[in-house]
Amino acid sequence: MKAHDGFYIDGAWRPAVGRDPIDVIDPAAEQVIGQVPAGTAEDVDTAVRAARAALPAWAATAPAERAARLAALRDVLTARKDEIAETVTAELGSPLNFSQAVHAAVPIAVAASYAELAATHSFEEKVGNSTVLHEPIGVVGAITPWNYPLHQIVAKVAPALAAGCTVVLKPAEDTPLTAQLFAEAIHEAQFPAGVFNLVTGIGRIAGQALAEHPGVDLVSFTGSTAVGKQIAVTAGAAVKKVALELGGKSANVILPSADLAKAVNVGVANVMSNSGQTCSAWTRMLVHTSQYDEAVELAITAAAKYGERIGPLVNARQRDRVRGYIDKGVAEGARLVAGGTESPRERGYFVSPTVFADVTPEMTIAQEEIFGPVLSVLRYEDTEDALRIANGTVYGLAGAVWGEEAEAVAFARRMETGQVDINGGRFNPRAPFGGYKQSGVGRELGAHGLAEYLQTKSLQF
Ligand code: NAP
Ligand code: MG
Repeated sequence: MKAHDGFYIDGAWRPAVGRDPIDVIDPAAEQVIGQVPAGTAEDVDTAVRAARAALPAWAATAPAERAARLAALRDVLTARKDEIAETVTAELGSPLNFSQAVHAAVPIAVAASYAELAATHSFEEKVGNSTVLHEPIGVVGAITPWNYPLHQIVAKVAPALAAGCTVVLKPAEDTPLTAQLFAEAIHEAQFPAGVFNLVTGIGRIAGQALAEHPGVDLVSFTGSTAVGKQIAVTAGAAVKKVALELGGKSANVILPSADLAKAVNVGVANVMSNSGQTCSAWTRMLVHTSQYDEAVELAITAAAKYGERIGPLVNARQRDRVRGYIDKGVAEGARLVAGGTESPRERGYFVSPTVFADVTPEMTIAQEEIFGPVLSVLRYEDTEDALRIANGTVYGLAGAVWGEEAEAVAFARRMETGQVDINGGRFNPRAPFGGYKQSGVGRELGAHGLAEYLQTKSLQF
C-alpha cells in the first residue's frame, strides 16, 4: 500500500520530519502495511492557517465553478474505485466485494450528488422585503472514524466545499491510507491550494487540537458519543457550530403482517455487514411473541450463512470490546444461540456472527452500542409495547419497520429516530441522515447536509 510520509497542506505534501509514525495494520493478517505521520498541534495550526488563507477566494467562487471541481472529484474517485476498495479492505478488513459495492461506490454517489447540488442550490432567497444570502460558515474542522472511512470523509468534505467552506481533516488513526488517497483525488481534481488539508494523527492530540483551534468555525465530528460530548463542550465554550454524528442502537421492528423470513434475513445481513461496525445498524430485532421462536430459528440460519463471509473487526481493542459485550449478554441472562466469544480463525481480529435470544429491553446488550456482529432478538406483546421498546434507548439514529405498508408507516411516524427503512427501502444518498436524542446534532447528505455548512445574512430593502 502506498503511504505518504507527510501531510497534505496548502496544495502539496509537506514532509513530516521528526513526527512519530502511526503503524497501519491489516486486521485480517495482523500485519503492518504502512506508516503515516502523527500530526501535532503545530501541524494542525499550519493546516488551519492554510484553510483560512484559502477561504476568501474559495467562498467567492461561483457555485458553478465549485460544482465543476466536485464533478472532477467524482470522476477521479470513479477512475480510482478499485484502488479505493483495495485500500479500505487492507486497512479496515471488510471483504473486497463489500468494499467495492459500498465503501467505494457510496462516496462516488455522494460526491456526484454534491456536484449537482452545488450547481442547482439557491444560495439566495427572497423573504418579503429581504434578500437572504446563504454564505459559507468558514473553516471546517472535520474529524472522522474508521468504519466507513471514505464515506464519512466525503459526507463532510463534499458539502463543505460545495458551500464554499475550506476544510482541515483529521481522519481515524486506523484508516489513514484511505484519507491520503482522498487527498490525492482532491489534488487531481484541481481544487485550489489550501481549500482541503489533511493532517493524519491521533485523536487526543491532532483531533483535539483541531476541535480547539480558534481558526476553525465549525467542527463536524463522527464517532463515539464519549468523544462527541467532549467536542460539543469544547466547541460550545468557543461559540462554534458543531455537527455530531454519534452512535446508535437501532430497532428492526417486525410487525405480524410482515414477510417474516425476508425481514429476518435482511435484518441479519444489515447487522453482520461491515462486521457490525455500522452506527445505523439495526442491532435490536423486535418480534411479536406469536412469531418469536420462528424468527429466532430464521436468524440462526441467516447468521450461519454469514460465517464464511464476515470480515475482521478493525483492531484488537474493538474485538476485545465486542467479546466483553458477548460475555455480558450471557452474564445478564440472554440466550446465546449463534456465535460467541471464541475466535473463528487462527489469525485476524475476527468475531463470529452472534445472535442472542430472550434479550430484555433493560439488558446492557439491548441498550449500549456494541459495534460488532452481534444481534439481539427481543419479544413484544403488542404495538404499544413494540414502540416503547423501540424508543427505549438514549439513541435515535436509524431503524426499520416491516409489515403492511400503511401500518408500517404509522409505526415509523412514532419512532424517535432520524431514518427508518420501510420494508427494506433502498439507500438514498440525498436523504438527510442524522440522529435524534444522543445519536447526534445536525444532518448529513443531500440539501440538508449542505445547509449545515451555510449561515444566513439578511439584507432588508
Ligand atoms: P472515536 O475515538 O470517537 O473516534 C472518532 C474520531 O475522533 C477519530 O478520528 C479519533 O481519532 C478522534 N478522536 C478521538 N479522541 C478525540 C479527542 N479527544 N478529540 C478529538 N478527536 C478525537 O471512536 P473509536 O475509538 O474509533 O471507536 C469507539 C466506539 O465509537 C466504537 O466502538 C463505536 O461504538 C463508536 N463509533 C461510532 C461511529 C459512528 O459512525 N457513529 C464510528 C466509529 C466509532 P483516533 O482515530 O486517533 O482515535
Ligand atoms: Mg479512538
